[in-house]
Formats: sequence, C-alpha cells, structure tokens
Amino acid sequence: MTNEKRLYSPKVMKDVLERHGFDFKKTLGQNFLIDGNIVRRIVKNADINKTDTVLEIGPGFGTLTEELALNAKEVIAIEIDKSLKAVHEDVLKNYDNIKIIYDDILKTDLKELINCDFKVVANLPYYITSPIITNLLRKNLPIENLVLMVQKEVGERICAKAKTKQYGSLSLYIKYFGDAKILFNVPPTVFMPRPNVGSQIVKITPTHEARAIEIEEFETLIKAAFSMRRKTLSNCISKALDISKTDIELILENLGKNKSERGENLNFEEFMQLGIELKRLNANILKKGNKDGR
Ligand code: SAM
Repeated sequence: MTNEKRLYSPKVMKDVLERHGFDFKKTLGQNFLIDGNIVRRIVKNADINKTDTVLEIGPGFGTLTEELALNAKEVIAIEIDKSLKAVHEDVLKNYDNIKIIYDDILKTDLKELINCDFKVVANLPYYITSPIITNLLRKNLPIENLVLMVQKEVGERICAKAKTKQYGSLSLYIKYFGDAKILFNVPPTVFMPRPNVGSQIVKITPTHEARAIEIEEFETLIKAAFSMRRKTLSNCISKALDISKTDIELILENLGKNKSERGENLNFEEFMQLGIELKRLNANILKKGNKDGR
C-alpha cells in the first residue's frame, strides 16, 4: 500500500472524515495521529509481532489501529464514539484481524473480552489518562506491556524517581505494579487537530509481583503522604489517617530516615516498608484509619 493511501496521510483523513460528516470532539480528547514515522515508532517500541493480541484504547480514525493490524495477530479496540463506526467500516474494511467495540474503556469488562496475554498500545484520551492506566493495572490482567501516548507532564509524573519535583502518588502507584520509562517526546504537529500540550510515549512493564500490602492500602498511604505538599511525611500521614505523629516518626527513624522527612524523599521500597510497619502497629490502619474514607 502506498503512503498516500495509509490512514496517517492527512489528506486521506480529511477527505474521509468530511465524507462522513465527522466532527472532532474536544471533550473526548480526539487528536488523531497524522505522522507515519511516529505511528511506526510507537508500534516498534511495543515489540508487536504476529503472535500478539493487542488492546487499543480509542482507535479514533484508525491510524494506529491500521499499523497495529499490519504487525499483530489481532487488535481489539475500544472506542466510545459510536459516530466513528461508519468511518471504521469504510477505512478498516480490508483488515480481518481488527475487532472494535463501541464502549467506554472504564466500563468494559476486559477479563470477559480477552482471554489471553496481551499488550496495550494507545494514544490515550488525555482527560482520563490516570483512571485508564490505574484501572488497567489494578485488575490483575495478563498484560505484557503498555506503550502509551500521554500528556508530557503526566508521562514525567508516571516515570518520576524519588527526590524529583514530578515524583508523587502517581509515580508510586504505577511502581506498585511495574516499571515505567519515558521512550520519547512527541510534538503537537503530528496530530489533527493539534493539541495545546506536548506529548510523550511511555512504556509500563507490569511485574505481576505479589506485594506485602494491598493496592487499596498502598493507595491510602501514598494519598495521605502527598496530601500536603510542603509538610513533613509524619505530619501528612498523622493528619490524614489519624495516627500518632510520634509513632510515624519512630518508624521513619527505624527505616534509617530523618523523622522530619518529606514524602518525595522516600522511594517505593521505603514506602512499602512504611506501610508494612504501620500495619504492624494496627492491622486495619490503612483500611479504616483514613478519616476522609478516601
Ligand atoms: N488512536 C487514535 C490516533 O492515535 O489517532 C485516536 C486517539 S485520540 C487521542 C483518543 C481516542 O479515544 C478518541 O478516538 C476518543 O473518541 C477515544 N475515547 C475517549 N474517551 C474514551 C473512553 N472513555 N473509552 C474509549 N475510548 C475513548
């Protein structure tokens, strides 16, 4: 197939969308890729081959979907915008390994839908980046890796290490499930329409490791730890979870940390250790201890 006929061609996209009377919906984060090099680079970085089942979130016009279909065994895509159905029936009709479900990814039962190991590749709708990623990870699905286009600032938070400005509860939440790294930055010029923000491709590789504390407990802890940015960790946790400040300071000292340490100075392993010690103090502390019921 010539490049002029591929879906990333801006001319093809414009013509087809006009023919179908399609209007871009800003509220659904619709910024479609129009750059063949970026599309190929994303798929290459996801290590997609002909034995792979790929889940794509938000196929949009189908630019990335097409490249995935050319490289994978099958592509299962979830798109919330039903007005794209006629477009897909038109532009993706020659691919027999694409299945598109018109639904909200946050409401889709993926366990029911996919019964094998799979990879996730997506140019995410930015307005729900965090819920999509956290939902995918916490469901214990057999995901091999996720290669995702996200807003640049969010990508930096996802992949941040301790003692940096971007480090916080999102970095720790992702780390609970696996390793995250930034692959490359993407400029607004490769999308139609152009977004007002920069983008970034990140790769998350779940480790599928059993953890000593539940994700719900860990989430309570990290939300409490970063609830007041300029306060000490013991102040934040003590206030948010109604635990004695002295107890927290003692745990921190036993972990070899300063008692007036801030959340951003503890790495993932130290947070896990803190959670384990808090539970040792009171088994339900991270379940019921939270005054706000978060
Ligand atoms: N994959 C296409 C591309 O790269 O050109 C489009 C990506 S666009 C940034 C995000 C897509 O996600 C849009 O097609 C949008 O309609 C879809 N979307 C938005 N919210 C969604 C949701 N809750 N569930 C499934 N798809 C959603």
